[in-house]
Amino acid sequence: MNPVPESPSLYPCGRPLLSFPEPLKLVILGATGSIGKQTLEIVRANPERLQVVAVSCRGRWQDLIQELDLLKTACPAFALPLVAITDPLARKEAHHSGNFGSRLLGEGSAALLEAVETPEDVHVVVNGVVGAAGLAPTLAAARRGVRIALANKESLVVGGDLVIREVFENGAEVLPVDSEHSAMAQCLSGRTQSEVHKLILTASGGPFRQTSAAEMENVNLAQVLNHPTWNMGPKVTVDSATLMNKGLEVIEAHYLFCVPYERIDVVVHPGSYIHSLVEFVDGALLAQLGTPDMKLPIQYAISGEKHWPLPGSRLDLLEIGQLVFEPPDRERFPCLELARLAGLAGGSATIALNGANEVAVAALLAGKIKYADIPRIIEEVLSSQPSLSVASLQDALAFDTQARRAAEALVARISTTAS
Ligand code: MG
Repeated sequence: MNPVPESPSLYPCGRPLLSFPEPLKLVILGATGSIGKQTLEIVRANPERLQVVAVSCRGRWQDLIQELDLLKTACPAFALPLVAITDPLARKEAHHSGNFGSRLLGEGSAALLEAVETPEDVHVVVNGVVGAAGLAPTLAAARRGVRIALANKESLVVGGDLVIREVFENGAEVLPVDSEHSAMAQCLSGRTQSEVHKLILTASGGPFRQTSAAEMENVNLAQVLNHPTWNMGPKVTVDSATLMNKGLEVIEAHYLFCVPYERIDVVVHPGSYIHSLVEFVDGALLAQLGTPDMKLPIQYAISGEKHWPLPGSRLDLLEIGQLVFEPPDRERFPCLELARLAGLAGGSATIALNGANEVAVAALLAGKIKYADIPRIIEEVLSSQPSLSVASLQDALAFDTQARRAAEALVARISTTAS
């Protein structure tokens, strides 16, 4: 086992990347979600370089069959991967359908761990699971000492210190899939950690960038889900509207690059042409620009930071004309500040932040609360939970449950008062 260094940057800044023979053997967690489907698209475009050995989904097993059919057509060496379906009812249906035969793994969330642990050879685990449920498989992938292409930012928000320990002790590596962190990774290529002064995360500003505080009290769900630049799943789209997504990304950046919170800035950049920037100690500012296409960061992470060909639209600088930047409005978007404060408090505070947010977002999507209730719920949960140290996955899950219960009680109170 290797020791955890004093300045543990999860991202292998200045360290050599793991190297694997092609085809790279992939486990894709969350295969029917936005990240998972785009990962499968990349595999179909690169059948000689990539091979899927296990996939997981929550409940949409019919979608999974369609995806695997497409894969079979595109990949001459196709073999049915191991399949994890975590929703018990859906797994039962899938089992009775006979489509997956002996490749179907066990029941519940343990199947996610099986998908990581069972295949004989694994090189890359793509974690596209939504929410805190992504932490346990990230830890399992770290224990296998493989490359983790991490789209599940909650792994770091909920279990950052645990992930650091497992990654260093087992010689794994974490390459970010989140577009902002991928941009920073691209700027950091060939650099060392001591050269970095500051990280600058760009934010599109979401659909309410120009909406007044009074109007934001009464926005409806369709407005919340109408993101101006990126096409993503519902959870991250709501988080983008509240700027909680950016808050979670600040915490994610802190753990990935081992940069203190006071040296991580957020700048609103409508249009999202610049995906993020790194300022170096000599004042040099490097940025990565591109069209908002998640396939680029996914492919960059899976490949081990290679720029493989990727068809699609290209950014036309003359068409953009100019780049616009604004400071984030921390009063209209309190989630950003709540995330930063939770990050500074450390320990269980970021778990409480994330658990309360997941409950609040689910309640909004279910029509139980309104948009403006989200930060209120998170703030109340954060102030009611002390910040304690997190020594194990069990600790993290216990704090998560505690925060969710507190948030659910608040949701129940709000929805009763409103009806
Ligand atoms: Mg992002």
